[in-house]
Amino acid sequence: MADTLKPATRLLRAGRPHRGWVNTPVSRASTYVFDSVQHWRDTRSRREQERLLSYGARGTDSTHALEDALVELEGGYRAKLYPTGQAAIAVLLLAYLKTGDHVLITDAVYEPVRRFCAQHLTRLGIEYTFYLPDGSDIEAKVQPNTRLLYAESPGSLVYEMLDLPKWADWAHARDCLVAVDNTWGAGLLYRPLALGADISVQAATKYLGGHADVVMGAIVTTQRSWEPLERASVDFGQTVGADDAFLVLRGIRSLPLRMAGHERNALHVATWLQQRPEVARVLCPALTGDPSHSLWQRDCTGTNGLLSIEFASGITTADVEAMIDAFALFGLGASWGGFESLVVPINMNNARSVSDWSGRGALLRLHIGLEDPSDLTADLEQAMMHLKHRAAA
Ligand SMILES: *Cc1c(COP(=O)(O)O)cnc(C)c1O
Repeated sequence: MADTLKPATRLLRAGRPHRGWVNTPVSRASTYVFDSVQHWRDTRSRREQERLLSYGARGTDSTHALEDALVELEGGYRAKLYPTGQAAIAVLLLAYLKTGDHVLITDAVYEPVRRFCAQHLTRLGIEYTFYLPDGSDIEAKVQPNTRLLYAESPGSLVYEMLDLPKWADWAHARDCLVAVDNTWGAGLLYRPLALGADISVQAATKYLGGHADVVMGAIVTTQRSWEPLERASVDFGQTVGADDAFLVLRGIRSLPLRMAGHERNALHVATWLQQRPEVARVLCPALTGDPSHSLWQRDCTGTNGLLSIEFASGITTADVEAMIDAFALFGLGASWGGFESLVVPINMNNARSVSDWSGRGALLRLHIGLEDPSDLTADLEQAMMHLKHRAAA
């Protein structure tokens, strides 16, 4: 029967005890005590290949339960957990790349990864090149030593998409692995492993946790690419606490329901914004006319709470900052994916290296939360009064 169940049902059943409690009890634990020297030796000889209880940092019932749910969500072989999304990306890059290798990184990458590359890949003699988020210059930028194609689709801040099946085939023909930052899709709206990627990483901090109360990273891989990640994660001492694992697993139970709410509210707000003279464009791949709309239609099953606004020409960055300060409901803060609405200013000069955003309007990113959307549009309307150079209605 389990094979015929729909994804939402399977997600609710993943990572649960086979009998007794509905939820796996939280196991705060460092030391696991063995029955005998034989048991100890046997476990240590098998723990690199199998998932066994041996020491708290190697996993507990709580982290194993969450890993099982992530494997169900992303459709991979096994999962690994990290203290933050950034930590997961850092370990990923170091697990699959060695001195002398080259990695192609999307220009749409989560911004802090840029500094990681500049500081640490360079120091280790690993070359990296940013490619255009639509992949149009990948052929021109590949090198004989390219070992990894790193994508983020939809990308950070303006949500550019890559034709992942096409580029995954291309990469595999060159003995090159494909990793995707899947934080936008959360494994629910977008499934990189099913589209040909080898590795899917996400900030569980965002939609998986879903309540702005935990930070965590997660990686799911195919069987073929599992081993380097498993080794590097142990070598770098990567683990998460049982309480945090519990929070993320609890978040996953309501993920489909929350995501549907974010989508409904975001589309409501997007439609409202599109009528406003202050707004040149609403950036969201689910909207007709967005440059990634056809890829989104083909590869995604829905959209989330993220929308970015490109303002009409004449509206300045200072205007946008005054608007941000005027919000009553949208909080100014990092992250997204929680139940609440957030806003941040966007500076594309820092966020992109090879994409051309010159001559475009000032930008703002919104995360549309689960509040009543009419309260959110009312807040947007009053905050827009603070745009000094408002376009005439
Ligand atoms: C937030 C985010 C990260 C980093 O996650 P943290 O848990 O904040 O370190 C990585 N990738 C993307 C796309 C993100 O939005």
